[in-house]
Amino acid sequence: KSVLGRPAPPKDPAPRRHARPGHGISRAKIRENALKVLYRLKKAGDEGYLVGGGVRDLLLGREPKDFDVATNALPDEVKALFRNCRLIGRRFRLAHVHFGREIIEVATFRGHHDEGDDAGRTENGMIVRDNVYGSLEEDAWRRDFTVNALYYNINDFSVVDYTGGMEDLKAGRLRAIGDPRQRYREDPVRMLRAVRFAAKLGFRNDETSEAALFELGHLLEEVVPARLFDEILKLFMAGYAVETFELLRHYRLFGYLFPDTDELLHYEDEGFPLTFIVRALENTDIRIREEKPVTPAFLFAALLWEPARRQAALLREADASPIQAIQMAGDEVVARQVRHVAFPKRFSLQAREIWALQERLARRNGKRPLRLLEHPRFRAAYDFLLLRAEYDESLVELAEWWTRLQEEDESGREKLCAARPSSGRRRRRRRRGGGKKAES
Ligand code: ATP
Ligand code: MG
Repeated sequence: KSVLGRPAPPKDPAPRRHARPGHGISRAKIRENALKVLYRLKKAGDEGYLVGGGVRDLLLGREPKDFDVATNALPDEVKALFRNCRLIGRRFRLAHVHFGREIIEVATFRGHHDEGDDAGRTENGMIVRDNVYGSLEEDAWRRDFTVNALYYNINDFSVVDYTGGMEDLKAGRLRAIGDPRQRYREDPVRMLRAVRFAAKLGFRNDETSEAALFELGHLLEEVVPARLFDEILKLFMAGYAVETFELLRHYRLFGYLFPDTDELLHYEDEGFPLTFIVRALENTDIRIREEKPVTPAFLFAALLWEPARRQAALLREADASPIQAIQMAGDEVVARQVRHVAFPKRFSLQAREIWALQERLARRNGKRPLRLLEHPRFRAAYDFLLLRAEYDESLVELAEWWTRLQEEDESGREKLCAARPSSGRRRRRRRRGGGKKAES
């Protein structure tokens, strides 16, 4: 039976089973703690499968980010098996088995709702509760994409495939399970997941999924802002931010996440502000690859810089001081943004500091620069200035000056401060004719 668009499992549940010699997953590639969980379940007489991104990435020869386990054991039964287990879950109950900092997520097979049971849905068919347990087969059909619904069976080391995921994986195809329109209506975040996996894996969305993506972006307006924030971090802080940004723009989804920024991207001026965002995202990707820390504050500061900068310019025209202007603009831009995507205070405060520091970095008189070096957000603000200087030539001298100041020892710093140009004019130099815009 088909339940409100939930793809109905076929009558004859004949999944394709790929025996160990027919696939590339070896136990040596599975993280030890995930194996421990699987073996413990097996020993207790329960079924244990590795599923989701772990299986998908191993089959692709990539290093999985995390390992998810699916089982027929109920959450309380899972909890009883592990000392280090906590039950969590807003939308559904999950068991988290903790090994130091590593968490293995263990989910009981989920089923589908009974026919006509729309108690767990909104008017538009969005699922808000999803906590009916089911069989392995049902669990497979309620997952998002075929390549995410492959199960590695710890009992015989085979891969179980109900939805044709193996074939899609080989073809580099991201295919929603069932009718993409219905699946995206049930949970619009799946659209962002479609973009995320396409960017990360270099997969294409299949044709019907693509059409649905182009059509249904507005459904993102229904998603609670906090969930969008979590999803944005996954989109932009996984090392594929540039591809992700381009795909979000391509499917016209970006505007539902950052409406003010999106609108201003249409007023492109010699590649700005688009190139600034892309450079900031490139920077994030490189830092992640080098395993350097990245903060959501910097990311949001970059993504919202153009609206903040424009608003500050308007306020300056209305006679606000530059510092006041950027602070007020920051407040306004953040207040508008959090109506769409949550932006926790601890991060938005930092983003506003990064913006305000752009003004303060431009003031180099007296001992100010030496004090600024001690500011907790100095490093982030300086990195931000470097990015701005890439497209704004009038900032190059300033950026280089701050670079030098940091390299000097104490006496060198004092000398540099004493010798700094007496008027701001020198750094206002513009390239003549067709030069880049000298805006800050
Ligand atoms: P990643 O590499 O980012 O961890 P993943 O595929 O493992 O990718 P998770 O968010 O960890 O993604 O989810 C694990 C699995 O749970 C997915 O592979 C998918 O099968 C299922 N899943 C997650 N979110 C959804 C959703 N919104 N709708 C349906 N299935 C989902
Ligand atoms: Mg995962």
